[in-house]
Amino acid sequence: MGSRRSKLLEDVKQHLCTCAEGLKLTPEMEAFLEMPMRELYVSLPVHMDDGSIKVFRGFRVQYNEALGPTKGGVRFHPEDTIETTRALAALMTWKCALHKLPLGGAKGGVICNPKELSHREIERLSRAYIRGIYQIIGPDRDIPAPDVYTNPQVMAWMMDEYSKLAGKNVFGAITGKPTILGGSAGRYDATARGGLYTVREAAKKLGINLKTARVAVHGFGNVGYHAAYLAKKMFGCKVVAVSDSKGAIFSADGLDPEDVSGHKHSTGSVLNYPGAKTLTNEELLELDVEILIPASLENVITKENAGKVKARILAEMANGPTTIEGEAILNSKGVHIIPDILCNGGGVIVSYFEMVQNYSGMQWGEEEIRSRLERKMKEAYHSVYNFASKNNVTMRQAAYTLAVGRVVEAMQLRGWI
Ligand code: NAD
Repeated sequence: MGSRRSKLLEDVKQHLCTCAEGLKLTPEMEAFLEMPMRELYVSLPVHMDDGSIKVFRGFRVQYNEALGPTKGGVRFHPEDTIETTRALAALMTWKCALHKLPLGGAKGGVICNPKELSHREIERLSRAYIRGIYQIIGPDRDIPAPDVYTNPQVMAWMMDEYSKLAGKNVFGAITGKPTILGGSAGRYDATARGGLYTVREAAKKLGINLKTARVAVHGFGNVGYHAAYLAKKMFGCKVVAVSDSKGAIFSADGLDPEDVSGHKHSTGSVLNYPGAKTLTNEELLELDVEILIPASLENVITKENAGKVKARILAEMANGPTTIEGEAILNSKGVHIIPDILCNGGGVIVSYFEMVQNYSGMQWGEEEIRSRLERKMKEAYHSVYNFASKNNVTMRQAAYTLAVGRVVEAMQLRGWI
């Protein structure tokens, strides 16, 4: 798994190299951009419910802060590594730049299996993590948010711990909080909703009728569930398959995502959903659908399976779901890829709206958040699409070139390089 995880870092660096020539990056700029500005490793002793003490390892990576305070989620995962965290922090940097947010990129992680921890153990771990990284975070420095296996409750504990250490309420230190604690309306489905706004624009370009489109979603967590639910609700798509870490389910007539979610909550998995056929996660990726949404982890579409992907649109709601080799195959087949830094930017966009509301003491309604989000996602999609068409490059190359170009401009204006 270690090498599988460092693959994401290699690929992210490779994407940077690909746009370096077009941007006329000097070797010094490239050297600076291919590594994070700052990394912190923490050891976290946590009192377990049985009275023992367990030491967890964690990281915080602040990749680049040229455009503003860094921002990025915290992942709780048994296979988390510094390389993955570094790669995800780089992706956050390019994502914030692409979406024109006044923020840099960061990421955090703790190596743990939350499925084996109690509620109270997760609370103690979350608080320990914040104590560990307290010195380098804060509303003007670096603002954590949720990612895989962390949620609004975890963000509430993290914000509370930060506030205790600061001796005052600092709601703006963490985003993705519950709304009663300064969280933003519309944050819960922002990543999926934002991604679907780009899918709608892509479908118009490709002449795909979303009302009859079939959708498969790999990973039925926060992002994947909302993507499935909203694809059906907003566009009338037929969601034919969804999956989680245990396997996939399929129904040619379409699934009811809300009902599947209820089933997953009561049984622990999407598997054995009444009336649906069981598939493997691999089989889901190869289904005859118009839209494939990877919403689980990285390196899911590779040179081994890309040739079998039948979708016309690949909406990368997960970070780094497609390897470079997998992407080359998809490109040769004419699959329209909406790259991760474009497609899943809705999460950090609404996190940024949350920061703005926390700074100003204002509370925006869900409609206002949605229309602001839609405007930003559409603008970013069309700027990437137009750049790609004009310069005859892929959507990912276009997205990276626009994003890295902005970070470089900020570094130059600040006199860094
Ligand atoms: P989550 O923990 O809520 O969900 C992850 C889902 O993936 C779970 O359903 C899990 O069962 C499934 N999964 C794990 N391993 C799998 C495997 N091997 N095969 C199939 N499914 C598997 O996490 P999330 O917040 O929904 O994040 C999903 C992805 O979206 C990640 O790549 C994350 O970095 C990215 N992302 C999340 C946000 C956000 O706002 N949460 C924003 C941008 C990007």
